[in-house]
Amino acid sequence: MLSLQSLSLLALLGGTYASFHDFDIPRSHATVKVQAFNLGNVTLKETAHAFFHPVLPGHETSPSPVYAFLVEHKNTRLMFDLGIRKDTVNFVPSVAASFASGAFILNQFKDITELLQDGGVPLKSIDTVIWRLLDTYARSHAHFDHIGDMAKFPNTTNLVIGAATNISTFPEFPNSSLQASDFAGHNVTEINFAAINLTFAGLKAIDYFGDGSFYLLNTPGHLLGHMSALTRVTPTSFVSLGGDAFAHAGQIRPRPAFQKNFPCPAHLLEETASSISTDYFWSPHSRDGVFDMRSRAQQLLAISDVPDAFYVSLDKLAAFDADPDFFVVIAHDMSLVGSLPYFPASLNGWKASGLKERTVWNFANEANPAFVFSPA
Ligand SMILES: [Zn+2]
Repeated sequence: MLSLQSLSLLALLGGTYASFHDFDIPRSHATVKVQAFNLGNVTLKETAHAFFHPVLPGHETSPSPVYAFLVEHKNTRLMFDLGIRKDTVNFVPSVAASFASGAFILNQFKDITELLQDGGVPLKSIDTVIWRLLDTYARSHAHFDHIGDMAKFPNTTNLVIGAATNISTFPEFPNSSLQASDFAGHNVTEINFAAINLTFAGLKAIDYFGDGSFYLLNTPGHLLGHMSALTRVTPTSFVSLGGDAFAHAGQIRPRPAFQKNFPCPAHLLEETASSISTDYFWSPHSRDGVFDMRSRAQQLLAISDVPDAFYVSLDKLAAFDADPDFFVVIAHDMSLVGSLPYFPASLNGWKASGLKERTVWNFANEANPAFVFSPA
């Protein structure tokens, strides 16, 4: 008889992941509470090509939500990502100018500090803010939508950043979207993956609280030094906070392991036969004008074809996504707007409530704002 271990080895060899054990994640009963905020929609006009490929006519501009996450561990609260500040005039001048000119647009916006306080979470109770995507090269302003406004947090709130972070500030460093006010008075700690041996799905992992409840993952992609997080919300289920490791659900779905564990619902199989353009998308059993989702063995969207785009961690997060024990949320997943339970609800019950089954195919639904698979 096959032992459980050899079964999971077989699963790995077959390229499918059947449970979190297949990723070598240690067992633990320690969990964190994870709550999501949607700070509003941000639209960067005519920039879809910078995030995915192909961009079909009419989809050059796509609005994105901006999610931020409150993580509670025993009596400790931290924010994973702060999202974007709403007082866009106070960004560094070049970013502020993009908002002033209408190239960037914010809708229904509230600062994370308002949402926390409105929800009865005093800012002084936030021990730590984790910024997850600053890089050594500080490509101009690439991270302004995640750093919030640290000046609104009391000095007792610590700031955690990646070791590769270039903390030079504007105006001394003209390309930086950081300002002195982002650091003033805060204790800043660097996360360094260099000496880390623990890996999951090939990603370096730091056991942040030391009890298996919250891991920081080194997920270079979008920017060097990009971190994401893996949160244990029950002893056997996880929420993967993927940050900007990819931009659109169609960049990781549908792959074979995903199709196997999360088959496309019958009504969407039927709908996508005509809604997905076979001029741009194909699969072995597709015919001209009739797309066949079931036989599609790779994700619908590729990474951007813009020269400096890179998403090296995409395949690894896709492995989490295909596994029934993980719910993957990226920072700007449009397909989840309206489906993701926001604060004060928590994401901890995602598995028991069937949230993943209900939402993973949203992106392929013509009525969903993330649908970009036929000319508009
Ligand atoms: Zn972003």
